[in-house]
Amino acid sequence: MSVKDPVCGGQAHENTPFKAEFRGKKYLFCSSKCLAQFDKNPSQYSKKGK
Ligand SMILES: [Zn+2]
Repeated sequence: MSVKDPVCGGQAHENTPFKAEFRGKKYLFCSSKCLAQFDKNPSQYSKKGK
């Protein structure tokens, strides 16, 4: 099973080591690059709706 990577819009594995938590919500990423990108500006990728 996979979930959407909020940074690149691709698919991230549910058990990926690349994950982050922001404002109580968990985010999963396809790679360390996307995780690093999220860490730079988490609010940009955690907007509700879009
Ligand atoms: Zn990605």
